[in-house]
Order: sequence, then structure tokens, then C-alpha cells
Amino acid sequence: MNHKQKPWRIVVILGSLWAAVLSIPTRGAEPATPVRGVLVRAQRVTPEFLKEWKAKGARSVVVVLDESVKKEWPSLARMVAARGMDLWAWVEVARNPAMADAHPEWVASLGGHHDDWRKRFPDAPRGRSGEGIKAWPWVPIGYTAAYHAHRARIESLLANLPGSWSGVFLNDLQTGPSSCGCGNDQCRWALDYGTPATTAKSPGDDAAARLVGDIRKANPGKAVVPVWVEECEPIDLPGAPGGTGLCGGVGCARGDCWPRNARAWNPLHAGGGPIALGVWSETFKRDPDRWIDSNIKLFQNQPAGAAALEPDRTIAVVEAWGLGDRALAARLATVARSAPGWLLALDPIDQSWKPIVMPEKGK
Ligand SMILES: [Zn+2]
Repeated sequence: MNHKQKPWRIVVILGSLWAAVLSIPTRGAEPATPVRGVLVRAQRVTPEFLKEWKAKGARSVVVVLDESVKKEWPSLARMVAARGMDLWAWVEVARNPAMADAHPEWVASLGGHHDDWRKRFPDAPRGRSGEGIKAWPWVPIGYTAAYHAHRARIESLLANLPGSWSGVFLNDLQTGPSSCGCGNDQCRWALDYGTPATTAKSPGDDAAARLVGDIRKANPGKAVVPVWVEECEPIDLPGAPGGTGLCGGVGCARGDCWPRNARAWNPLHAGGGPIALGVWSETFKRDPDRWIDSNIKLFQNQPAGAAALEPDRTIAVVEAWGLGDRALAARLATVARSAPGWLLALDPIDQSWKPIVMPEKGK
């Protein structure tokens, strides 16, 4: 050490070095090639299945990973590698029945300002004074305790995952469906909108970006891809000509919804790497022939001050379960035209919820 160096200068130098290290953003590892393939449950993966899909142009195999699938991962990895394809994991984050049952106080609220969702659930219970209605089993990462539980679960699922795998998709990093109470499953911007909280929220709107950053830090060299769902569209709003009626009588998208979506989206976009879009057409009561392409375009040209997503960072994950061969081929052609990266979800990705009553003070 230089004896002439004054101790305070060393502190300053060390401090600025540390600040430089901390300020290096955790960028997403880029996949070597665009992701193109299928999203499936582990049971579907056989050598014959892989051969068939490789012949159809798939090179990525994305398998839903949960506690029960982890032990099957070595054989999955061997099969996928033998076919010369890339293996990815898909983790369902917010929609988690076990976590919702263990911690009902972490379950997403249905917005208290609107009850248009009741048209979809006419027999739903009515909370008494001191009780709120929750969208079971959605446990959003925007609640502080839930964030830590989700992060620990994802890290544990990915820890020591054997074989070669390219990365992980993290699905449902937004709040619960119908978050303002409008009844639209794509309304995912609000946390405790007009309802008393039953657990503490983390400050800011960047929980999704933080979680992606944390999982990247724990898995260097792996791509960590958040999966987003677009907010309500103008055609869903009351009075829209030829409208869907999905937002009931609520003017979603005009006021808070899209600007709040932008505040969660922009840090995620700034984190780099691909971002996937959940294009759950039939689930969201959309016409797939029209909506798949328009939803992907909306995703790439976000309104209300949200950063546009570059096409080469776009991965469209399209609902494709329960389709016959011809419809499946048509869907593949549609998505391949609209996005450079795509996945056909051949097994259902559950987006459902049901209203439950919950004491507002928590359990
Ligand atoms: Zn809404």
C-alpha cells in the first residue's frame, strides 16, 4: 500500500469501486438463436415427440418446471440434447394454489371500486364489513413477503438443475386478473385498488424487473425471460363500437391502467434480454385470427409512455392446446409471421381464478 495515500482517499476509491460494481445492470443473457418451439408438460416429451416437432421447425423445448418435475429433469435434458434441441424451464409464479392456501393474506385483491367482475361470477360470496374479496390462487410478487417466497422457490427449483438448459421463462409477474374489479382477465396493473391491504406491498412498481434481476444473478449464463400479459384494450371499454364488453362498465386503459403498466414495464424493458408475451387467445375470449397479430403488435408498441419492445427481443407464447392438426399448423403460421421468437403452448397454462372472501385484517 502507498503510505502517502491518505486513508480517506482509500475509502473514497473503495467506495466508488463498490458503487461501480453495484451499478452494473444485470443484463439478460441472450439466447444464441431466437427461441422457436413448444411449451409442454414433462409427460409429453418423448423422442418421437421431439423428432416430430423438430421436423416442423421447432428447436426449443420449454417444459413447465415445478417441484414434481425436477426429478425428471435429467432424463428430459438427455432426450432434448440427443435431438440437438434447446431445453428451457417455465415456472408459474403468481398463480400458485399451495402458496395461496398457506398464505391467504398474500392473495391478490379484486378491486374494491368496481364489481363488474360479479357478472362473471353471479354466485360469488359477498363479504361482510371487514372482509374483502380475493382472486384465488393468485399471489402477486408485489407483496413483500410473497416476493421473497417466490424468489426462494424459483431459486430452489433452478438450483442444481442437471443437464444442459438454456434458461427459464417466469410467467405471471404482474398482479392478479381483474385487478381493478372490471372483470377483464388482462387487467393486471393494480394491487389493492380500493381495498384495504392484508399484507405489506413493496415500494415502487418494479417488482418484476427486480425478480428477473435476482434470478439472473443466481443463474449466470442462463437467459431469464419474463412473460407479460397486455392490459385491457380500447375495444374492451364500455361504449367501444363492436366492443368486447370485457371491461364491463369500467373505463380501463384510459386512466391509471396503461400508465401504471408502463411503470412496471419500463424497468423490465431496461433490464435487457428477450421478453415473452402470453397470447392466451381463447382463454381471454379473443378471436385468434384477428387478435394474435394485433396483440403482438400492441406488445411491441406499448402505449402510454411505455418503451417499445424491439422485435428481436419478442417471444410470443401462443395458446395452442386442444387444436387439431390443421388448426395447429395455421396457428404456427400465424405466430411465425408475427414474431421472430415464438412458442406454441401445447398444454394448458391455467389463468383461471375464483373469488374468495378474506378478512381484511389478514388471518
Ligand atoms: Zn380493469
